[in-house]
Order: sequence, then structure tokens, then C-alpha cells
Amino acid sequence: MSETAAQTLNDDGLPEPAVAPAWEPTGGLPALRITNVKAIPTAPDNIRLVVVKVETSEPGLYGLGCATFTQRPLAVVTAIEEYLKPFLIGRDPNDIEDIWQSAYVSSYWRSGPVLNNALSGVDMALWDIKGKRAGMPVYQLLGGKCRRAADVYVHAGGRDPQEVEENARRFLEQGYRFIRCQVAVPGYSTYGSQIRPKAAAPTFAQPLGLSQEPWEPTPYCRLVPKLFEHIRTALGDEVELLHDIHERIPPIAAIGLAKELEQYRLFFLEDPFAPEDNGYFPILRQQTAIPIAMGELYVNQAEYVPLIRDRLIDFIRVHLSDIGGLSPARKLAAFCEFFGVRTAWHGPGDVSPVGHAANLHLDLACYNFGIQEWTTFSERAREVFPGTPEARAGAIWSNDRPGLGVDIDEGLAAKYPFPAHPLNGAWPPVRRRDGTVVRP
Ligand code: MG
Repeated sequence: MSETAAQTLNDDGLPEPAVAPAWEPTGGLPALRITNVKAIPTAPDNIRLVVVKVETSEPGLYGLGCATFTQRPLAVVTAIEEYLKPFLIGRDPNDIEDIWQSAYVSSYWRSGPVLNNALSGVDMALWDIKGKRAGMPVYQLLGGKCRRAADVYVHAGGRDPQEVEENARRFLEQGYRFIRCQVAVPGYSTYGSQIRPKAAAPTFAQPLGLSQEPWEPTPYCRLVPKLFEHIRTALGDEVELLHDIHERIPPIAAIGLAKELEQYRLFFLEDPFAPEDNGYFPILRQQTAIPIAMGELYVNQAEYVPLIRDRLIDFIRVHLSDIGGLSPARKLAAFCEFFGVRTAWHGPGDVSPVGHAANLHLDLACYNFGIQEWTTFSERAREVFPGTPEARAGAIWSNDRPGLGVDIDEGLAAKYPFPAHPLNGAWPPVRRRDGTVVRP
């Protein structure tokens, strides 16, 4: 690389402009520049989504990425519009790695969900652009398919074990074979168990902790083994069962629950501990062989690298946009492969269809794919996001269009602004009976 010619220095004595590298890695393709970066907030399913659109100097060529941090979306929009946009205009969108690394350190203090989501929006959009330019789906750029489609799991909740069973049976009839089961604890605010019908396709999504009922760990720990005894007896051995503790109980209670649940042969038990309690994993591992999935709350490699290196978890559950997008996720997946850890990327309704497509491209290209969490989008959301992945026979399939394969109808997206909310989408506190706030 040749040094740049004489540089102008700014008031701080730093070279200006300082953002573009001194090479032109066009790879034989015509020069291309980023001309605009914008955040698109939309909520077609009443869930606050943020998508980033990166426009280029080639007419009609743009990319989309998911930057959805549904509890703090306005902070992400500011990070994109006020910081990443001026940083990126004029850059060559081919330089995905250099853009990611330079934008990552441009705040000096880095990582965290707001900045990672903003970066993810740009990062995924750049992969989308590269795929469109190459005329290939992104999974081809990642090494090509190593499976036809990605098996998914869906959420069956209910007010009691019978209702969970009924809802699970409905999914089994639709061809799903991996079911996450969550049951309401009567009188308590329980994660993931309330029924929230959607307009077009009824699903059983999490209530996002909006209930004002209290939460107590002991009744939950008593009830969950009864749920799985009921479900395993009723549905037999074929179905794969999953459960999410959602970091809600004391670590030693989670270890006890994991041991009790081992006999029901779960596909995985998720988030037994909060990220703050990572130190409990070595203790859990010596007590039970129940498969452990962990990590939707992780934002920093310092949190997950030791768990993988020490073979303390079985499935990595990070939310792609919360760790910074497709670029860090593909490295993480490769790292996991060397330690026998499988992927199970976070995929609830607060991942946009663009983010779900990014999950899918990794699912198809990574040998160590484990399972994909799936949510059913309404027809309305599918109209806003043409090309949204579809589920058939219990799996999601690529539409094989170049790039990520999902577009956005911006006019339609604008018709679904964020719903009014006293906290702008933030989760209200869940409290114990005595008023002590608990983890959500
Ligand atoms: Mg979870």
C-alpha cells in the first residue's frame, strides 16, 4: 500500500479526511461510493423495527440491514443518522471489513447494544450490496450451502400444561418438529407464556413482560418439571422440546431445575443464568448433561469467547444485530465450530425480516448450524418486506435472490410508525412480590 500524499491536518493535528483507506480495492469492478445511509423505523406488527438502507452511486443499487434494538430504537436511529452516516458517505461499500473495524473504533468507547445495532444495520446492508453486485445470495459469499433449508423452532405458550400441549399440537400439524414450551405460573408474571393473537397468523409470542403481576422464582421452578412431564407423556419422544429460563431465577435454582429437566431430553435449555452470572457455567456443566443454549443478551466477545473455548455451552444464541451484524457473527460461528458449539441465532419478532434473512444465510452456510428460532410474520409485515423468508415443512428456505433477498417498501413502512408507548418501547420493570425488581 502506498502512502497518501501530503495530508491536511485538522485543529487537533489529525489527518483529514481520516476515514478512507489509501487503496482502491475495486477488484476490477467499477468504482462505487456510499451516497446515503438512512435509518427506517417501522412497526407493521406493532413491534418497533429499525432497518438501515445504504445507498450507492450506482443507480438502484442499495443494501438493507437490521438494526433493531426494540427497547431503545430511537437511540439506534441517532447513532446511525448522526454518527455512521457522516462517517460512511464517500466510502467504497466493497470494504465491508475495513468499514466495520474503522466504524467500531470511531467511538473509542465501543460495543454495547446501541452502537452494535447501528453498526449491524450498515454491515448487513454492505453484505446485501456485495451479494447483489455479485449476482449471488449472501450464503454463496459465505462458502455456499451445506443444507437445503434451516430447521426452526416455534413458541408454544399456554395458561396451563394442557393449553401448551394444544398449541404444540397445532404446530406439529403444520410440520414443525421443534417446539419451545413455556407455561404461565398462575398469579405471576411469567415470561413467554401469554397468548397474544396476531391479525393474520395467530402465534404465541412472548408478552415482553408487560404484565403488572409479580414474579417469584419458586412457583415457577415447581411448575416447569410438571409441564415437561405432561408434554413428553402427551406428545411422545419424537418431538424436540426446548425451554427458556430467561435468566429469571437464582443461579443455584437454575442448576437444580436443569438437573430435574434432564430426564425429559430437551433439545436445549436456554439462558439458565444472566450474563452477569457467567461464572456459574462450569458448576452447571459438572452437574448435568442437559444441552445448554445461551447468549441472546451478549454484546461483547469477552462475554461469550470463554464459554465456547471452555466448552461450557452447546448452542450460541446471540442476536446478530446486538453483536454488530453478519461480519462478527460469521467469525463467531467459525470459532464455535472448532469447539463443537452449534448456532441457534436469536430470532423472535423483534428481529426484522432483514435480520431473519441474515440469520438464514448463516444457517445455510455454517456447518455447525444447530436450530433457528422463528417467528411468524403477518401478511402486513410481508408486504412491507417483500422476500421475507418463508417456513415450509418446519424449516425456512432461501428465496435465492441476490444479496440478503429481502426488500423494503418504504412508502408502506411509513404507514406503520412506532406505536405510542409511555416509555418509547422500553420494558417496564417486573417485580417480586415485595417490590424488588427482577431481570426481565
Ligand atoms: Mg431467549
